[in-house]
Amino acid sequence: MQTSKKEKKGKLIILSGPSGAGKGTICAELLKQMPDLVISRSVTTRSPRPNEQKNRSYFFVSTETFLEMVKNNELLEYDSHFENYYGTPKKFVVDMLNFGKDVILEIDVKGALQVKQNYPESLLFFIEAPSEQAIYERLIKRGSETEDKIQIRMARAKLELAQRHKYDYCIMNDQLDRAVNEIIEILKSRS
Ligand code: 5GP
Repeated sequence: MQTSKKEKKGKLIILSGPSGAGKGTICAELLKQMPDLVISRSVTTRSPRPNEQKNRSYFFVSTETFLEMVKNNELLEYDSHFENYYGTPKKFVVDMLNFGKDVILEIDVKGALQVKQNYPESLLFFIEAPSEQAIYERLIKRGSETEDKIQIRMARAKLELAQRHKYDYCIMNDQLDRAVNEIIEILKSRS
C-alpha cells in the first residue's frame, strides 16, 4: 500500500555539541535553507542573556514552573546543568511530527540519548569545533559569561566530546557553509 504524503511522519533531528561549537548558528542556517524544518524551543530556568529576546530562543520559566512541567509529563526529555534546568516541551514536537514536519532539537548529550531511546529513528548530529581554543574564543566573544562560567562550560565540553561516538554523525564546524551543506546532504539522503 502506498503511504500518502499526509500520513508520512516527520523526523527528529538532534544537534548537540559543546557550548560555543556553533550549534545555534548552524540551526539558524538549516532553518533558512530547509523551509520544511521547524525548531523546538526549549524551556529553561536560566536567565535570558542580554541579546536573547525574552521568550524567543527559549521559554524562560521559574524552577517551580519547570518542576511542575516535569511532574505533569509535559517534557520529552530534560536535564540540569550549569545550575539550571533545560527541557523539550513534548506537545509541540509530537504535533509537528504527526503533521509530517521534521523537527530540530538543539539539546545536550544526555537529553539527545534519552530521545534516541524513545525515538530510535531520530538522527543525532554532534557538532564539533575545530579546537578547544576555538570554543574558548567563541564563548569569550559571546560576552555573556564570567571566566569561571566559561571554565565550567569548557570542562563540560570535554565530557560531551567523549560521548560523540554515540552519535549518528559528527560534523566539524570549521567552516559554517561546509558544515551546513554536509548536514543538508545527509538529511536529503535520509528522507
Ligand atoms: P545555553 O545555556 O548555552 O543556551 O545552553 C546550554 C546547554 O543546554 C547547551 O548544550 C544546549 O544544547 C543545552 N540545551 C538547550 N536546551 C535543552 C533542552 O531542552 N534539553 C537539554 N537536555 N539540553 C538543552
